Amino acid sequence: KLELEKASFKDFENMPGLNAYGWAREFAGYVANWNRRGHWNYQQESLTGCAPEVELNLPGNPNRSFVALVFNDYLGFAQHPQVKAAAIAGIEKYGVGAAASPAIGGHMSYHREIEEKIAAFFKREAAMLYTTGYTANSATMQALLKKEDLAILDMGVHASIYEGCQLTNVKTFPHNNMEKLERILQETQDMYRTRMVIIDGVYSQQADIAFLDEIVRLVKHYGAYLAMDDAHGVGVLGKTGRGVIELYDQFKNVDIITGTFSKTFAHLGGYVVADTNLINFLKFQARQHIFSVTATPASVGILKSIDLIDEEPFWKTRLWNNIEYLKAGLRELGVDTGNTQSAIIPVMTGDPALNAEACKLLMEAGVYANQIGYPAVPRKNARIRMSLMATHTREHLDRVLNAWEWVGKKLSLRKEVNEAFT
Ligand code: PMP
Repeated sequence: KLELEKASFKDFENMPGLNAYGWAREFAGYVANWNRRGHWNYQQESLTGCAPEVELNLPGNPNRSFVALVFNDYLGFAQHPQVKAAAIAGIEKYGVGAAASPAIGGHMSYHREIEEKIAAFFKREAAMLYTTGYTANSATMQALLKKEDLAILDMGVHASIYEGCQLTNVKTFPHNNMEKLERILQETQDMYRTRMVIIDGVYSQQADIAFLDEIVRLVKHYGAYLAMDDAHGVGVLGKTGRGVIELYDQFKNVDIITGTFSKTFAHLGGYVVADTNLINFLKFQARQHIFSVTATPASVGILKSIDLIDEEPFWKTRLWNNIEYLKAGLRELGVDTGNTQSAIIPVMTGDPALNAEACKLLMEAGVYANQIGYPAVPRKNARIRMSLMATHTREHLDRVLNAWEWVGKKLSLRKEVNEAFT
């Protein structure tokens, strides 16, 4: 019998080898608040898709326009006319579905083209596609790491990586703590068949980045493998938008690059980029690749999104102008934006109830942002998370800053809020 009514985050916490901090983090903020306060921030409906300004279908408040800070479409490609045109051309040419998994007929010429392009994007030999970025992580780790192996995870890695490591042994180190990572590598030498350090490039909740240089050094020194998911760094960081790997110029030293087409590339799907041998192994071993359909023909638009990163670098410049403008404005208001190094800007409220209230007030002021709480982050680190896009205008950002000024003042009427906001 399924005891559904008893399900709680305690269950995640108690799962062997897993840590509630990373597990289910995408939903955690919503659900925690949903349970506590009702339904208002859970699964809002945008009537206008993914855009810098959207209309939300809110009960009693139809079609009001909001500045949207919830999308990871950092360069605004979801609405780029050329990307849309390429997606439509893909549908015209191939129909709307792939209709079979890659192993049994569902591998089309556009799949190969996307694989080749994403591999070349990272200056590597080969790539393969998965249905989602989540699967790219979970399936790859499941196929590679078994009970004689060890996965060494930064505690902040995405939920999909934790899931992928359920068939293997797991040790975690506190987020970006290089001494702890080194200690694990020292203490586990010669104890496992394979040891793989798995990190994110940009951490989606902390908004900061991995110390990739140091991690590469440690991994090489102690003879481990390195896998990195840079879902939030690609398109945003590095001179030509290749992400954290470019920022540190470590193209050759990350054994496995995983990622998603659902953020900067503005589509749906996941990828793994690595050497040909490893990709061939995964194509025959990763159950989710063998038994699950990947990219639909609209994904032909991904080819254009990848090209646009080189062809129209001004989107990245605009994004960073927006990031700097909003950060400076928030700093002037005295709010704490944590250690953000990416297009994700958190405002730390430090308390779940305050966080919920801040989010609600922002909505009242026409700003749609996400609240993040336990177990996505520890309770005392509750925060509002804002994702910026290149296509946000100054007017949008000024509306956000005005909203925060109002929210900050309104909430600082109470002492504990004062503390959180100063
Ligand atoms: N990795 C990270 C770091 C993410 O933030 C996400 C987004 N939810 C994913 C993987 C999963 O990507 P997708 O949404 O394509 O499944």
